[in-house]
Amino acid sequence: MDMLIGGKYVTSEDRQDVKNPFNGEVIDTVPIAHLQTAQLAIDAANDAKESLTEMSAFKVSNKLYNVVEKLKEHKEEFAELLTREVGKPINESLVELDRSIETLKLAAEEAKRIYGESVPLDAGLNGKGFFAFTQRLPLGVVAAITPFNYPLNLTIHKIAPAISCKNTVIVKPPTEAPLTVMMFCELLNEEFPDGVVNTVTGYGSEVGDYLVTSPEVNKISFTGSVTTGLMISQKAGMKKVTLELGGNDPMIVLKDADIDKAVKGVINGAFLNAGQVCMGVKRIIIEEEIADEFAQKLVGETEKLVMGNPLDSKTTLGTLISENAARQVEETVNNAVEDGAEILIGGAREGAFYQATVIDKVTPCMDLVVNETFGPVAPIIRIDSVEEAIEVANDTEYGLQAGVFTESYSNAMKCAREVEAGTVFINKQSTFRTDNMPFGGFKNSGVGKEGIKYAVEEMTKTKLIGLNLR
Ligand code: NAD
Repeated sequence: MDMLIGGKYVTSEDRQDVKNPFNGEVIDTVPIAHLQTAQLAIDAANDAKESLTEMSAFKVSNKLYNVVEKLKEHKEEFAELLTREVGKPINESLVELDRSIETLKLAAEEAKRIYGESVPLDAGLNGKGFFAFTQRLPLGVVAAITPFNYPLNLTIHKIAPAISCKNTVIVKPPTEAPLTVMMFCELLNEEFPDGVVNTVTGYGSEVGDYLVTSPEVNKISFTGSVTTGLMISQKAGMKKVTLELGGNDPMIVLKDADIDKAVKGVINGAFLNAGQVCMGVKRIIIEEEIADEFAQKLVGETEKLVMGNPLDSKTTLGTLISENAARQVEETVNNAVEDGAEILIGGAREGAFYQATVIDKVTPCMDLVVNETFGPVAPIIRIDSVEEAIEVANDTEYGLQAGVFTESYSNAMKCAREVEAGTVFINKQSTFRTDNMPFGGFKNSGVGKEGIKYAVEEMTKTKLIGLNLR
């Protein structure tokens, strides 16, 4: 597949293989763009700005709805490609497609709601006889830089709100899994003027960095790791930046919890997408009194997962993004075992697969739970009180989402107040998101919010127009 810049396909002699992590098959190749190509995309996006700002909100909305229909038409084709490039089970890819369609629809709706407000200047000193109103204006060119784990929906979370408030976009898709994103941009380009959406493939450290530092790019919307996010925040200068970064989400399970519900929460939360989820359950912090029963039930449910060919609809656990990624998880788990943790089930790697693993007797200072482990691992940390649970939950640089399982109203509210995270769910694991909710973490998990309405706020600037009526 080639890049799309200013409505034209742009290629390069330098190319990169996109491989299926399940069997190593080369699915396709994409260009490795260099700086001149990134500049071409910046020029095309700047040249296209007027074509979009001149369009009525009505028309922008209708065009986004047209893309919704096109994506629905090609849903199966997209889902299959997604599974092949990422290794996630086909049923999970179909869910990502449903969510992508929903995200796009929300943006089509939001395109008609870019409101300002009236401002009573006469409420201020010397303001008598003045009136003002605000308008929300596009920022100009938005660079969307996205990770491999939910490549399509996370990229649509940037492109769709950007266009709904009339920004043009340059997309830097994930290096490991660029294909569904590129195919989606082709659908958008059929509907919108050339240059409204552009793709630049290649390495983040080269073209990504160029977009971040270019004065002709007005906004960086980034989803990815804390390391890259910190680098971007240091280099972006005066641009607006949204950073949706990693998580180390706790699941607090108190002794009065519905254990079966909590176990179900871990199966979804720790093993979905082979554990490669920013808001995945990365630490189970559980009261000692119920820990044995919980662990036994969790092992029983984990046994039911089916690891296999991700294109087989019976598969519930696919591969990680690469063998290298699986090796890293293996090493982290092995280190925890050397330090005294105990594997209850799983713990083995085969190529890019890593078994769903439940690991008990984990202590809060083990690397496995200090850093974000991006794999299908459910570490159990035993504690003795709600206070200790909150202390352990907060003892991290991250603060994306959190889940608390308890039947006690006061414990639920205590955790909701005191756990430092962008979202706290009660009786639901952290691994839950609807595409309209304000999503974004505290601490090193990020800056700013996504969820269409909130992304639009971050992708517009407010202008005040004041009238002297005296
Ligand atoms: P990553 O940071 O390695 O890469 C993300 C993107 O940034 C890729 O497109 C990459 O090419 C690009 N990039 C790399 N270096 C760059 C640079 N110097 N300048 C600009 N761009 C650069 O992340 P990943 O490994 O693809 O994704 C996994 C991480 O993403 C995990 O930490 C996960 O928790 C996080 N994530 C967060 C969210 C969220 O919404 N908070 C969602 C999904 C994933």
